[in-house]
Amino acid sequence: MRFETRAIHVGQDPDAEFGSVNVPIYQTSTYAQPAVGKPKAWDYARAGNPTREALQQVLASLEGGSKGLCFSSGLGATTTLLLTLKPGDHVLISDDVYGGTYRLLARVMDGWGLAFDTVDMTDLVACRSVVREDTALVWVESPTNPFLKVVDIAAVADLAHRAGARCVVDNTFATPYLQRPLELGADVVLHSMTKYLGGHSDLIGGALVTSDEELTERLAFLVNAAGAVPGPMDCYLALRGVKTLALRMEAHCRGAKQIAEFLQNHPKVTRVHYPGLPGHPGFEVAVRQMRDFGGMVSFEVESRDEAIHVAESTELFFLAESLGGVESLIELPGPMTHASVSGSPIEVPDTLIRLSVGIEHPDDLLGDLEQALG
Ligand SMILES: *Cc1c(COP(=O)(O)O)cnc(C)c1O
Repeated sequence: MRFETRAIHVGQDPDAEFGSVNVPIYQTSTYAQPAVGKPKAWDYARAGNPTREALQQVLASLEGGSKGLCFSSGLGATTTLLLTLKPGDHVLISDDVYGGTYRLLARVMDGWGLAFDTVDMTDLVACRSVVREDTALVWVESPTNPFLKVVDIAAVADLAHRAGARCVVDNTFATPYLQRPLELGADVVLHSMTKYLGGHSDLIGGALVTSDEELTERLAFLVNAAGAVPGPMDCYLALRGVKTLALRMEAHCRGAKQIAEFLQNHPKVTRVHYPGLPGHPGFEVAVRQMRDFGGMVSFEVESRDEAIHVAESTELFFLAESLGGVESLIELPGPMTHASVSGSPIEVPDTLIRLSVGIEHPDDLLGDLEQALG
């Protein structure tokens, strides 16, 4: 079956009792057991839930992995993955990794004996020079936030494996519709389902997908033992989102491309960051490893005041953090999403504006940006 079909059918057979075509929301914390010590499937909902299981199966299928595991947030998935490491292990992250991932390593796990280094992961020579003998995990994100840099996943996964490390790819920005890291050699894929997978800005959730048996076994244990699990209602919403992922991504990509081209030709815009523009440093790798270029566009204007003016003047683009929903969002990474990441190695200019292009008609979005840029 093709991607679009699997998104609607894998793990989602009509229910056996009533034929409900949607996976029911099994809103329960515990399960009646037919006999002592013999639960039907699960004994307690921290360990498992049928609504969550359906979502896990479809995500595993879409990413081309054998096991999917869902979490209460993207960071819950990140924390659980880091719990597979041991004190003394070294983690390599990119210098523009998602701020919450950086904060977790710099301000939480540092006290637990995990060492980490940051590097520009688009620079393979630099990457090679910072991988250590005790590197256990190489953390890739592509495209990155907010500059939409593109990392060569196959090359970095190979580099990690040569060092005896695993490679994880945060695939939140691309989604499995545009990019499948496991096929490129990564060992595990991470998602914030809050973004494109959910797609409607109505839930917080995370996921991991892997085919690595040893890792699956440890993670499956940690889901229950560490407990960062999602509720059934959020799993249902994510499942509903995933059904339309392909259609939505097509629309996000179409809109973002038009907007990037419009911005590139606008006199008040000094620079556009979008991997689909041939001048972007990641363009060639993106063409190789992605189906399309995604729905995120960042751009720079002359001054901080101008950036604030634009962000406060759009009407269709809501001024908000987050991304990946059907509605378009605008934000200033400097004072907003990237402000919480003290000590982060990247400099975000306060003239930078980030757009999450929604699925409204591109003409309306262009008109809104045109009036806001004035
Ligand atoms: C939002 C985000 C996360 C964290 O996910 P939450 O669901 O907010 O915990 C991780 N990685 C990326 C790339 C994100 O955009």
